[in-house]
Amino acid sequence: MTTAPGLRPAPTGSPAPAGSPAPTGSPTPADSPARIVGPLPIVGPAPADSPAPPDEPRPYESYVYAYPHKTAYRRLPDRPGLRALWASEPKDALSLYLHIPFCEVRCGFCNLFTRVGAPDGLTGAYLDALERQATTVREALGTGPVRFATAAFGGGTPTFLTAAELDRLCDIAEHRMGADLRSVPLSVEASPATATADRLELLAARGATRLSLGVQSFDDTEARAAVRPQRRADVEAALGRVRDAAIPVLNIDLIYGIDGQSDASWLRSLDAALAWHPEELYLYPLYIRPLTGLGRRAGDPDPEWDRQRLRLYRLGRDHLLARGYEQRSMRMFRRAGAVPQGADDYACQTDGMIGLGCGARSYTAGLHYSFDYAVGTQKVRSIVDDYVARPAADFAHAEYGHPMDAGESRRRHLIQSLLQADGLDTAEYRARFGTLPQDDFAPELNRFADRGWLTGTPDRLRLTPEGLAHSDAVGPALFSPAVRAAMAAYESK
Ligand code: SF4
Repeated sequence: MTTAPGLRPAPTGSPAPAGSPAPTGSPTPADSPARIVGPLPIVGPAPADSPAPPDEPRPYESYVYAYPHKTAYRRLPDRPGLRALWASEPKDALSLYLHIPFCEVRCGFCNLFTRVGAPDGLTGAYLDALERQATTVREALGTGPVRFATAAFGGGTPTFLTAAELDRLCDIAEHRMGADLRSVPLSVEASPATATADRLELLAARGATRLSLGVQSFDDTEARAAVRPQRRADVEAALGRVRDAAIPVLNIDLIYGIDGQSDASWLRSLDAALAWHPEELYLYPLYIRPLTGLGRRAGDPDPEWDRQRLRLYRLGRDHLLARGYEQRSMRMFRRAGAVPQGADDYACQTDGMIGLGCGARSYTAGLHYSFDYAVGTQKVRSIVDDYVARPAADFAHAEYGHPMDAGESRRRHLIQSLLQADGLDTAEYRARFGTLPQDDFAPELNRFADRGWLTGTPDRLRLTPEGLAHSDAVGPALFSPAVRAAMAAYESK
C-alpha cells in the first residue's frame, strides 16, 4: 500500500468515522505527524488510459460545489432566529449572494433552483420579497459593523431581469444590505440571449467585475442535444456585447460529454471560446440528473460514457494548459496573468455567506440554511409563489438547513481545499482545528494515495492530475455517513 505523504498508516479494521478525533493512545514515532519532515515521495499519476483497477469508483459521482449538499438539508423544527444565529459570527468579510430563479428555457442538464419564464408581475413581486428579506436579514445582523467582501448574482439567470430590475437588484444589495458593489468583486451569471447591451452596460456601471456566460457548446447540434437550443451566431454576438461592456473578467462555461460530441467538435468549441481570450473558462462534465430534461435518459451507470467524459476532460485540460491557462480546479481554468475577481471554485473554506432569494444558501459556522428546494416544475413554482407572498417577519428565521459540528466543518474545509489545484495547507487546517488532516482523515487520504490521486509535502496535500480528474469521486468519498444518509433519504421533487 502506498501511504500518502505525512499520513499515518490507515488503522486496520473499521476506519475511523469521518471527522472523528484521531485515535487515542500514544502515537508511535513512526506514525506521529511530528515525523513529517522534508519532501516526501510524490505519487505519480496513473497513465491516462490505463485500465481502471476493479474497485475504482465511478469518476462522476457528483459535483461537490458546496458541502453539505442541499439535499442533506431538512426542515428545522425550531425555526432558529437569524439574530441569534449571527450574533457571534465575524462580519467583517461576508459574502453576499442574490438568487434569481428565472430562465428563458430549462436546459436539459440543469438541476438548479429555477423556473422557466415569469408571468406578468412575478419578477417585480420577487424583487419586492427580496427587498423585504434583505431588510429583515440586515436587521438580524445587528447594529455593529458589517462588511461584504464579495458579491454575486446567480440563478437561474439574473439577466432574465430587465435592466431596470437589475438596477433595483443592485440597490437592494447596496442600500438594504450595505454592500459596496463598486469596491468589491461582483460576479453575475448570464445567458447569451439575455446578455443584452443595456443590461451589460448597467451591470458594468454598477460595479460588475465578472460576467459568466453559459455557452455550453458552440456547436448548434450539440446545444440542441443538451436541450439548450441556441445558434452559434447569437452566442458570438453576445460575447461581443460582453467585451464591449468592458467588464474585467469574462468567464465562459462549456460542457463535455454531450450526445454526439466528438474529440474534434469539443476542440472546436474550446477554440471558439479561446478566440475571445476569456479570463476564465469552466469545463463541466455533463450530468444527467433526476427530474431534468435529460433525466428521462438516466439509467444504469455507463462506463463508456464515463470514459468519453474522462477523455474529453483530459483533451480539454491539455488544450488549455498549452494555451496559457492555469488549472485552478477540475472545472476552472484561468488565463495566466488574469486578475482573480471573486472566489475560485471551491475557494471559500470559511463561513460567513448571506444568501438572499428563494433557493439561496446562507452559512454560519454552526448552521447552513436555505429555503425549501426542488427541481420539478410544479414544485419550484409553488416554492417561488410561497416566497413572494411572505411577510418580512418570516425572513427572520432559518427554515431548512444542516447543522455543522466540528467534524462536518473539518470535512468541509478538507473537501473544499483538496478539490482545488493548490490543495490543502496543513498549517492553515491545524490553526483552524488544532489537528492535522492526516490524522483526522487517514483512511480516506490513504485510499486516495493508493490510487495515485493524492500527493503532497508535510505542508500541503494536493491532488495529482489524475486525482483532479477524479474530483467528482474524491469529493463524495469524503462525505460523512450522516450527510450521505440524509442525501440518500432525500426524495427528488
Ligand atoms: S443551466 Fe443556467 S440557463 Fe440553463 S436552466 Fe439552468 S440556470 Fe437556467
